[in-house]
Amino acid sequence: LNILLKNFNVILRDDGTGLFKKDQKDIYIAGDTIVSIGSVPEGFLAERVINGERKLAIPGFVNSHTHAYMTLFRNRADDLDFSDWLFGNIMPLEDRLLKEDTYWGALLSCMEMIRTGTTTFLDMYMFTDATAQAVLDSGMRAVLSRGLSGGEDDIEGGKRRIAEATAEIEAWKGHDNISFMIAPHAPYSCDPNYMREAAELAAKLDLGIHTHISESRSEVEQIKEKYGCTPPELMDRAGLLTGRTVAAHCVYLTDSDMALLAERGVSVATNPVSNLKLGNGIAKVPEMIEAGINVCLGTDGAASNNALNMFRDLSFLTLVHKGRLENAVSVSAAEGLKIATVNGAKALGLGGVTGEIREGYKADITILDLNKPSLTPGNNLISALSYSANGSEVDTVIVGGKILYDAGEYTTIDTEKVMWNVQKIVERLG
Ligand SMILES: [Zn+2]
Repeated sequence: LNILLKNFNVILRDDGTGLFKKDQKDIYIAGDTIVSIGSVPEGFLAERVINGERKLAIPGFVNSHTHAYMTLFRNRADDLDFSDWLFGNIMPLEDRLLKEDTYWGALLSCMEMIRTGTTTFLDMYMFTDATAQAVLDSGMRAVLSRGLSGGEDDIEGGKRRIAEATAEIEAWKGHDNISFMIAPHAPYSCDPNYMREAAELAAKLDLGIHTHISESRSEVEQIKEKYGCTPPELMDRAGLLTGRTVAAHCVYLTDSDMALLAERGVSVATNPVSNLKLGNGIAKVPEMIEAGINVCLGTDGAASNNALNMFRDLSFLTLVHKGRLENAVSVSAAEGLKIATVNGAKALGLGGVTGEIREGYKADITILDLNKPSLTPGNNLISALSYSANGSEVDTVIVGGKILYDAGEYTTIDTEKVMWNVQKIVERLG
């Protein structure tokens, strides 16, 4: 479909400064790509015109760390500390899920992400097949990774998970909007030999790495006691810290951990809401940026957030560091927007593909309704995204030139069917 976004307020990046600016332009989309901003491409015939009056086009958010079908556990285990939450509540629930359940949970997550302006996400979970199907059906863009855990205590399980991951990656080759990473889950769920196997698999398949590092204080203490080093040091020895690694959380990093991650080119996905809710603290985002780390933004799963709404995480991201450092200049709205879009795309190996509204990029665009009270008056629409918007302003969402959410209506997802199936699953889980 050829789409013309006519006379739109649009958030673009200034080539000179690299910063965002608001402009007013026509945006031309042909097939899955933004072919021109401003001037009519030769021979362009619009099959669909969307009028930009009182609308704002922004790059779709890149949710750089989530566990999609955890939506099924939303508000199932709240106000609990990290280990009680994970080992006492979430893992036993996960054991009882069937593959089909995870498809509906993943589709529910796609509904929520689309509705709140996310166009791309990085996922880690089991049943990657089912999540891939949900992504395909919804029309979103995603990088998927099968969570791998294993080691001396569970050699067979570890092998089985690697075999599953490999088969799923093979089976989903050739889908434009779906790519993969290898996901050794965390330093506490993989032993060093298993980590090394995961690193070798990523190298062999030429894929990035997705993991959790230094999420809780107890993790850091446990790794120190067992191996005499920090979690990043342990993972580096196994070859897991590369320029294509996305490390979620990284709340408890030492200065030398930060220098190590920066040197290896690791991207850190910060998850401010999840970290706060589980009582894990606040990651040192401004310090990481200062150290040269590419920081991106994720919601984490809906069992620890408990939403997949990037507007909320963007708001927390641009607020908590001001409070923590008693510095109102820390993580500005413009910097937050870059973290939630451009930096995420880079982390996911999709730099130059998504994360910006730019000629030659995929048409991954979120359109906001400026007639909403929270966006009125539009004195500074970049600030508004962090400090005023809540996601309810999302009007239309386009991924790869396909309109997935059209003036408030889903075009690819049968929402009643999703709700009915999710209700059935929740009743069975009890
Ligand atoms: Zn996570």
